[in-house]
Amino acid sequence: MLQLRDPFTITHPETAYRSDDLSIFLNIRGNNEYVKVSYPVKYGIFSRLETREMILEFNLNHEIRHARSKTRHWLHPSEWLKRTAGNDWIYYSSGGYAGVFEAIGEYYLPNFTYPTNSLLGGRPFEEPEVAKIHLNWPKLLAAVPDSKPDMPAHVADWIAQVKRIQKPDLEHKARTLFEICGARTTVLPPDARHSDYNVIPLTIADGCLYKCRFCKIKNKKPFTPRTQDDIQQQIRDLSHLFGNDRVNCNALFLGEHDALNAPADLIVYAAQKSYDRFGFARSYMIRPRLYLFGSVDSLLHADPHLFEALNRLPFDTHINIGLESHDQATLDRIGKPIRAEKVSLAFNRMGEINHTFPKIEMTGNFIMDDHLPPTHIQSMLDLVRDRISHPVPKGSIYLSPLRFGKPSREVLYDFYRLKTASRLPMFLYIIQRL
Ligand code: SF4
Repeated sequence: MLQLRDPFTITHPETAYRSDDLSIFLNIRGNNEYVKVSYPVKYGIFSRLETREMILEFNLNHEIRHARSKTRHWLHPSEWLKRTAGNDWIYYSSGGYAGVFEAIGEYYLPNFTYPTNSLLGGRPFEEPEVAKIHLNWPKLLAAVPDSKPDMPAHVADWIAQVKRIQKPDLEHKARTLFEICGARTTVLPPDARHSDYNVIPLTIADGCLYKCRFCKIKNKKPFTPRTQDDIQQQIRDLSHLFGNDRVNCNALFLGEHDALNAPADLIVYAAQKSYDRFGFARSYMIRPRLYLFGSVDSLLHADPHLFEALNRLPFDTHINIGLESHDQATLDRIGKPIRAEKVSLAFNRMGEINHTFPKIEMTGNFIMDDHLPPTHIQSMLDLVRDRISHPVPKGSIYLSPLRFGKPSREVLYDFYRLKTASRLPMFLYIIQRL
């Protein structure tokens, strides 16, 4: 039988070492494609250190990326902590929140250490066992023996390397990431869930068009595209920063808040250059994806050839449009300076693009709050139910609760009511930063 060769055998050989109280697995092959399953899956090539009490996992730069306790005090054996490229820790919850998949389209619910608009979840970081791992992993790691008499030298060397990287190094690396891009990515598109939010951020334009009153993530920068030279420099610096772990990367986020408003040739240039320079064609992870935000005006003014060009790229592209509301009273109340008629036109355009281009998905965001005019929900139904004759699997609509840190039963109830009526897939948008 023909055996397919693992192209990473030479560069990332798998090794296992076990003693009675310590196991080390180097270069484990995780899943090579992001999937939606109800059991924990790890992605990419990574290494694992396991003691009687805990499991720590590291990327190919020897930086910690997952952790969990093995003791009975851990909340659930299939739950884990993940550290992001921005050096945030996220706790992934499995059970206890009925309907997580229906609500967010994923089986695991991310819980953050910073305020966000999630209507679901608990406070796992307040659990002593979670706090122990989250805060004290360097101490726990330091207590692991440096070597053992029967331990191969390269395994001992790997332990020395992972021990060398301390919290300040990881903080410094995250700051460098934000400096390269010009700022921290304060919000990622909801579609980035298809890559578990593991994206390389590249800023192609700063700021946004509207500076809406309700928005908590906006900045003061006027909308300004970057130059090709600047983009090239970012790509060089990011390539260096992600280092050996680039082999696990296959997703790109073009920032900031309205990359679709950048010139069409700049968008395509940034995507293609990134694909080449980051080596996505040689990534361990298959099915590269491209994410960006757009606005009602940037969509309505976009060059039609842009979508043809994006559809030819080696990415599946997801463009998330901030529609917010189809109701003029609501748009006025939240201080979004656009007309409802334009939202209607943008919604139609999204449908056309979704229908025409198999490799592009246009998705839309609407806000949710229990203090909005009742016409907001009715006008949303005019679009997602009445304007579409039959259920369509492509073109998700995300509902984004306006308030941070205030889960509301009424809003959750409205969400499920809308989801049942909608002919487009509908999910809650949990705001997540990088
Ligand atoms: S909602 Fe979008 S367009 Fe409005 S201020 Fe926020 S980032 Fe800018």
